Amino acid sequence: MATRLPPVDVVIIGVGWAGSILAAELSRAGLKVVGLERGGYRGQEQIVMPEAHDQLKYDRRLEHFEDLSRSTITIRNTTDELARPQRRHGPFPWGEGLGGAGFHWAGWTWRHTPPDFKLRSHVIERYGADMIPETSTIQDWPITYDELEPYYDQFEYAIGLSGKAGNIKGQIQAGGNPFEGPRRRDYPNPPLKQCHAGALFEAAANELGYHPFPVPAAQASQPYTNPYGVSMGECVYCGFCMNYGCEVSAKSVPQTTTLPAALDSGNFEVRTNAAVIRINTSGNRATGVTYIDGQGREMEQPADIVALAAFTWSNSQLLMVSGIGEPYDPGTGTGLVGKNYAWHGASVFAPLAYEDGHIFNTFMGTGALGTAICDLQGDNFDHGGLGFVGGNILCAMQMSGGPLGPFTVPTPPGTPGWGGEWKKAIAHYYNRMTWFVGIHDHLAYRGNYLSLDPNYRDKFGNPLIRLTYDIGPNEQKLSQYMVAKCEEIAKAMKPSAHAVYGLPPRFDGGAAYGIVHQVGGAMCGESPADSVVNKYMQSWDVPNLFVVGASAFPQIPAFNPTGTVGALAYLAADAIKTRYVNSPGPLVDA
Ligand SMILES: Cc1cc2nc3c(=O)[nH]c(=O)nc-3n(C[C@H](O)[C@H](O)[C@H](O)COP(=O)(O)OP(=O)(O)OC[C@H]3O[C@@H](n4cnc5c(N)ncnc54)[C@H](O)[C@@H]3O)c2cc1C
Repeated sequence: MATRLPPVDVVIIGVGWAGSILAAELSRAGLKVVGLERGGYRGQEQIVMPEAHDQLKYDRRLEHFEDLSRSTITIRNTTDELARPQRRHGPFPWGEGLGGAGFHWAGWTWRHTPPDFKLRSHVIERYGADMIPETSTIQDWPITYDELEPYYDQFEYAIGLSGKAGNIKGQIQAGGNPFEGPRRRDYPNPPLKQCHAGALFEAAANELGYHPFPVPAAQASQPYTNPYGVSMGECVYCGFCMNYGCEVSAKSVPQTTTLPAALDSGNFEVRTNAAVIRINTSGNRATGVTYIDGQGREMEQPADIVALAAFTWSNSQLLMVSGIGEPYDPGTGTGLVGKNYAWHGASVFAPLAYEDGHIFNTFMGTGALGTAICDLQGDNFDHGGLGFVGGNILCAMQMSGGPLGPFTVPTPPGTPGWGGEWKKAIAHYYNRMTWFVGIHDHLAYRGNYLSLDPNYRDKFGNPLIRLTYDIGPNEQKLSQYMVAKCEEIAKAMKPSAHAVYGLPPRFDGGAAYGIVHQVGGAMCGESPADSVVNKYMQSWDVPNLFVVGASAFPQIPAFNPTGTVGALAYLAADAIKTRYVNSPGPLVDA
């Protein structure tokens, strides 16, 4: 029997990026808010040296990530396979604990471009419907770039983003990304200092006629105070960023940006080690949630509004176990919860070795330190005759330098993967190698989806989320094309040896740590017939439930998702505090 707690205005499930933004905005608007976080407490004050840089703990044992002995997902490539549980983190580990994955993310912080929001109609208009693979289920967003722009701006200023604008109010800016949508003003902080890899990439890109610019980075390039009055330090390029907490408070994470604002409001209470197992409903109303607390007790938290911000996996899982919406069935095409799962891997990866005096100082870096081009993303180049849509961002990065890091020490092609020769190569090339990577646009497909696993359950008794996923035909063609293009760039960077790898033929759920962006399952759309939530992230079925996060994406463009997750959270918060609380019910545009 659950213990029933006093009701609150809003209960938030999951206190990562999306949850902490909702917490800050709604509590500051005077609503009584409780945040329930499945993982433990993590505060800035706990990040102390030298423990904060313990590579074994954080790069190898992934101690900031989800504890897979309590809950995990199962994976299969196709519906005729038996899905197996992930017993250790594979290609895309995910977060747990206060701040979510936002606490230990890398910080590449992009906006989608205007055509990304109208993908289906854009492709059909320019190339015809035949360009979209028959098995693809891509659809337009119900929101335009222009509608989301103020919320992108709000997120970027809340987190003190460092970068160089490429388009301010329609005026192209030298040194920025000329392909981005118009922004109202420049970034709150100037770009980070450029690394040597970035300089080599920039020179090669210029030589080939591309438009290089600094990767937008969620590491403050100078001391910064955000509009909530929360101050951040300046990045010291220590090389321990992704997978780690930041000991100088320079990385934009909920703890350094949004959580202090929520906690200072006096209206926000956060409860950690609180795993929500169900959203409770009565008719078409959410009445609150049931969770298991740190002592194993079942608690019921009643609330007028439920905000589900528990990341892609749990957003779908909790909707399904709570019986909200109809689960998607790929056989019949019916149902929407779990539909349009997408992810994007490295469509190209190019390691480059140098012998002649190029020293990269790889022990330095930050999670989002790099130089990029978008000339080959989306529809920024003509696809006539290519047989695929989309493309990728290409980024030369210096993310972290520890020898145990996931991306640190590539070796030249032909080096054995273990043994004495490998050790010699690692020692020789530690400071003489760099790399660039392409992350690709990924369509949604009929067969890529999330469902409840019939065989495996989590510690709390709920079925695990089962991912059915494989790389689509469009992405394979795209990757082959990009490998050829990246050969040109790699050669122009004049290494002594290099390789350019494309996507593997099949998705491998046991592959090494790669790119960490899962989307879909509760996509937004124009009507209950095509989506789980409306443009305000409000459930069509249960109007006092808001489902916030990358689960709302109908497909994923090449850009890392969190800039858009942040913008959607600000949009949802604005809709709740300025419209929903005054007139509870479905939010309809005039
Ligand atoms: C290592 C790493 C690097 C990344 N780098 C980048 C990057 O450079 N750029 C980028 O754009 N994105 C990056 N991402 C992705 C980024 O972190 C996510 O997009 C972002 O954190 C999503 O925010 P969220 O609030 O939706 O989810 P999260 O930040 O993951 O927060 C969700 C929270 O919900 C909690 N939760 C889940 N289920 C329950 C439950 N049942 N009850 C209670 N709580 C629950 C989780 O414990 C978690 O704390 C990275 C991710 C990882 C893991």
